[in-house]
Amino acid sequence: MWRELHQFVPTLGDARSRRAAVALAIGATVAQGCAAGAGPAPRGAASPRSAAPLVRTVPADDCGAPMPAARASRFELHSSFWLNLHNFLYKEARRRRGISDPGLGAKGNLTQDTLPSRALDDAERRAWTRALDYYERVAFEHQRFGDSLVIRVNNRLTEAADGGDLSDVSLDPALRAALLDAAPVYRAVWWSAHDQRNATWASAMHQLLDRHEECLADRAASVFATAWQPAPIRVDATVYASWFGAYTTLRPPHVTVSSSAVGSQGVNGLEVLLHEGGHSLLARVDSALAAAAARQGRRLPQQLSHLLLFYTAGELVREVVPEHVPWADTFGVWRRNATVRAYRTLIEREWRPYLLGRTGFDQAIDRLVGGLPAG
Ligand SMILES: [Zn+2]
Repeated sequence: MWRELHQFVPTLGDARSRRAAVALAIGATVAQGCAAGAGPAPRGAASPRSAAPLVRTVPADDCGAPMPAARASRFELHSSFWLNLHNFLYKEARRRRGISDPGLGAKGNLTQDTLPSRALDDAERRAWTRALDYYERVAFEHQRFGDSLVIRVNNRLTEAADGGDLSDVSLDPALRAALLDAAPVYRAVWWSAHDQRNATWASAMHQLLDRHEECLADRAASVFATAWQPAPIRVDATVYASWFGAYTTLRPPHVTVSSSAVGSQGVNGLEVLLHEGGHSLLARVDSALAAAAARQGRRLPQQLSHLLLFYTAGELVREVVPEHVPWADTFGVWRRNATVRAYRTLIEREWRPYLLGRTGFDQAIDRLVGGLPAG
């Protein structure tokens, strides 16, 4: 029942019917338990590899009844040599400049991750320094949140063959030269530890996804009234993934998560996957917020839908793991400033009833926007 509702909700044309369907879907989930601790036993660990992504199937539904047939996971985890090198050079170039500004959730195992497995010889040190020089020069033009250097090359680097020479992807020649300079050094001295850390993290995530993915993904699709894209979302594990510890590029959605960051471990990592993947579900929320703001003459803050995603991902994970403390509470998202705290209060008051099945999508959006200042 839950799955059928999920499938037809986005295609319903009539807003009132859609509201009813969404509310009913939420009721069904709560009634069926979205049970904490339910679900199949975790399966064995497997190492992610760019060339051979681990394909998983989820054998049973976490929300109650066994599924009629296995369904492929929405998340396909990888460990890409080139993307790891790129992000590590970016991080090391910042560190060389004395910049170490990880967000609370992005703090990780800096000492272990940056320690080479052996001393670099002179030729290696020269090559590594040349690459860092390039990154220091170029990357700092792009260091703001939403980092355009990362966004521009993220997908291309993950398409490149791990053992190749980057000739199979289109890259700026200077960037390619820097990466090729650094690659043998990285491969000899850091990669094996980083790849292992990625594999360990992926294994932990697979166990949590096996247990909770079905329920979380269906709930998110229902809450945001948007179906997931049919193809799995690629998730790349890297030891460093921006100052925040994770980022997502869209079209197609592509998630990069730091396997080292404290905020990516255990159930927090599961919430990160739901949050980052959830970015691909926000179009309807964004358009509904904009329409309501125009109708009510309110000024719509750009960050509202993102904060809504933080709140929702945390609450949905808490539905399946009751002891979980939402990521935004643990890692200080709501403590950033008074404005964000005020939005949290608004979301708690007007959006939470929707998550509990007490109001519909349109009503929740209207009431959220009604709490914003006049435009
Ligand atoms: Zn986000």
